[in-house]
Amino acid sequence: MSLQERDKKHLWHPLTQHKIHPESLAISKAKNAVLTDENGNEYIDAIASWYTCMYGHCNDYITSKVSEQMKRVDQVVFSGFTHEPAIKLSEALMAILPENQQKIFFSDNGSTSVEIGIKMALQYHFNRGEKRNTLIAFEDGFHGDTFGAMSVSGLSVYNGPFEEFFLDVKRIPVPNGENLESVLAQLETIIKENKVAGFVYEPLVQGAAAMKMHDSQGLDAILKYCKSHGVITVADEVMTGFGKTGKHFASLHMDTKPDVMCLSKALTGGLLPMALTTCTQEVYDAFYSDDISKGLFHGHTYSANPLACTAALSGIELLQSEAIQKDIKRVMASHEVFGSRIKNHPKVKNIRQMGVIFAFDLDIEMTRYGNLRDKLFKFFMDNGVFLRPLGNTIYIQAPYVITNTELEKVYAVIEKALETV
Ligand SMILES: *Cc1c(COP(=O)(O)O)cnc(C)c1O
Repeated sequence: MSLQERDKKHLWHPLTQHKIHPESLAISKAKNAVLTDENGNEYIDAIASWYTCMYGHCNDYITSKVSEQMKRVDQVVFSGFTHEPAIKLSEALMAILPENQQKIFFSDNGSTSVEIGIKMALQYHFNRGEKRNTLIAFEDGFHGDTFGAMSVSGLSVYNGPFEEFFLDVKRIPVPNGENLESVLAQLETIIKENKVAGFVYEPLVQGAAAMKMHDSQGLDAILKYCKSHGVITVADEVMTGFGKTGKHFASLHMDTKPDVMCLSKALTGGLLPMALTTCTQEVYDAFYSDDISKGLFHGHTYSANPLACTAALSGIELLQSEAIQKDIKRVMASHEVFGSRIKNHPKVKNIRQMGVIFAFDLDIEMTRYGNLRDKLFKFFMDNGVFLRPLGNTIYIQAPYVITNTELEKVYAVIEKALETV
């Protein structure tokens, strides 16, 4: 029996209605930008497996470092214990994070990093004797699938059964370069009428909202306003972190730096699951006390797993290398040329790019998980390219190490799809 057949017996896949989508493709090999299925078919991974393996699948440098670490310390409790990989990782992060970030808290995935960010914001005020119970978030944001993260996510397509259990969240539109006055007015009203603890946002690019991009000056003004009202700003850089926007972090495009940052996805280069929530000294100090209950009583069994820390540290070394920085510039320039190549196509609109993130919309009516979207997905796969359209948006977020030939193939298949839809 094929892996695909055996899969169906016991496995329940994420974000999947199994009755409509019974098949899962079995991948037997992953190397650099290429996935190979159990029948030997190859696919260029043009979305870096949800933006994780930016240095290429099974990156030799990362795997060799992790396999050395594996023989030294595999796992140890991170409450009351520490280890070199976590310490080295913290030092490496300090060199690249916005300079106001001083403390690092570990967890396992993007959603939990956001939960922790939310808890930091709520408890920060609680510890200072102020009850603030409302959060602000952008419309159409996505922050994960645990309860706090779902609550701040505006894209609640399938959250129906859970909505009555959500945290209190007020929403503002993203700044689009024209609406700043109105956004700031809404923000002012929300802050006046509620006790706002924090503002949770995806800086500059809203990934799950189909790579919706907004304006950095507007975001800077929003952050400034929040900070002047004691609202803890929580930047969810789970998707944008580690070079995607052309800088190490999207937050580096603004003058006003966040109080808290959430990181995961490309953190370990796709090798192991891990996430971080980082914060300023000021946030940390609100928890630092002789009173034990003022601590942050949150922890996961695998917090700061030494193997994941080693993968992350190796990934950061790669990110800072001349080779990867050159790759990032190469991919950015290549996307720009592709953008001008398709910009006059009658079925193409809203071409947008930030760093290596490239997206455009098909100028035809489509639903997010509809039939045409499935057909497009299948068309790309049949042509050897893994792209995952979001509604009528086609986006590319390939590994930095994708070759020019592979990039050209991705573009050619997209152009071919434009002729067929
Ligand atoms: C993917 C993502 C998350 C959730 O991360 P998981 O690891 O899937 O839980 C949160 N925020 C953003 C911006 C993301 O892109």
